[in-house]
Amino acid sequence: MSKIQMTTPLVEMDGDEMTRILWKEIKDRLILPFVDLKTEYYDLGLPHRDETDDRVTVESAEATKKYGVAVKCATITPNAQRVEEYHLKEMWKSPNGTIRAVLDGTVFRAPIVVKGITPTVSTWEQPITLARHAYGDVYKNSELYVDGAAKAELLVTYPDGRTERKLIHDFKDSGVIMGMHNTDASIASFARACFGYALSLKQDLWFSTKDTISKTYDHRFKDIFAEIYENEFKEQFEAAGIEYFYTLIDDAVARVVRSKGGFIWACKNYDGDVMSDMVATAFGSLAMMTSVLVSPDGKYEYEAAHGTVTRHYYKHLKGEPTSTNSVATIFAWSGALRKRGELDGLAELVAFADKLEAATIATIEDGVMTGDLYLLSTLPNKRKVGSVEFLDEIATRLA
Ligand code: NAP
Ligand code: MG
Repeated sequence: MSKIQMTTPLVEMDGDEMTRILWKEIKDRLILPFVDLKTEYYDLGLPHRDETDDRVTVESAEATKKYGVAVKCATITPNAQRVEEYHLKEMWKSPNGTIRAVLDGTVFRAPIVVKGITPTVSTWEQPITLARHAYGDVYKNSELYVDGAAKAELLVTYPDGRTERKLIHDFKDSGVIMGMHNTDASIASFARACFGYALSLKQDLWFSTKDTISKTYDHRFKDIFAEIYENEFKEQFEAAGIEYFYTLIDDAVARVVRSKGGFIWACKNYDGDVMSDMVATAFGSLAMMTSVLVSPDGKYEYEAAHGTVTRHYYKHLKGEPTSTNSVATIFAWSGALRKRGELDGLAELVAFADKLEAATIATIEDGVMTGDLYLLSTLPNKRKVGSVEFLDEIATRLA
């Protein structure tokens, strides 16, 4: 059998711990036997990030800008304990944060739906993709405790000395205040990433804020989305037969719960933080969530939503058997290969991505699964297998 050819390399970002172990096994068993894989490899494993003073992370993001598609393994975001464990020179920043800053991207998360893992919300038939605006608002706020009677005001000073003031509250006694911001540029990037991604999936886009209460702040989000839709995307949406739908956040929540799924829900930063965990949990398992970072100019970085599964890695190091779910990491590979195939006009590569996903789902629906899904699945004939055995079962079906 001749292998499927590629024309442009994928940017491959290796990672840490259990997901690094699975990364190699996935390539060896599910990809290399079928695809003449071309990648530009970046080792984002913590030891190599430390050796390169984290330059490798920036280089991998720049390569993604150049080639357009990346696939990333989960990586450790160092904390004080990791600095000691890995004898790090510095507490390096979150690689995902660094990559997101270089690409100016928006993260889209979607669950993988399989028979036997039933969503808590019984009407959901198709995945709901959540898009979170990952800049500003309460995450970059300034807040103060007001220690007794005081007048609190907003003050804006322009470079020409002009000022604007507005009363926040005339405190009769102690309390709290907060100032937060967002920028037109960041909101516009978010809007373009959402409209572009909806077009690439051919799914409706929903967007929700609280503009009836926040008449300037949230209203600005609504206006920027509406303007960009009218001027840049309306015709393409109509041609693709999809819709842009704006509604209030509380109305959106009610509609989402009554929906069948199958759309993209764009949320402001805080709403997205809360709603993505709600949607993920209601669909079943963190290990079944995919994640893709999309830049406003259409660059894609695919990964699993979960971390490096540290507890399983330590078991693995002790030589104990593990049953770690590799599905979201496999779907990161299939997502990246499919996008590469679409961009380069390689129908065979696109078809391979479809087959890899189908074989993975068929394995689970045949009752063969890792421990996390075994606990959740309602299939009568289910069987728990080890990390590598699960990949071999997929490989058999794929071949
Ligand atoms: P985690 O790696 O997602 O794991 C948390 C727990 O969830 C695991 O202990 C496991 O539960 C379960 N789990 C997650 N993924 C699983 C899978 N594929 N198969 C089976 N079970 C799975 O999160 P964490 O322990 O908070 O973080 C570990 C490291 O990952 C940290 O260093 C963190 O910085 C990093 N992280 C990276 C990313 C990223 O690169 N995108 C995201 C999040 C966290 P049981 O132990 O009960 O089996
Ligand atoms: Mg959160």
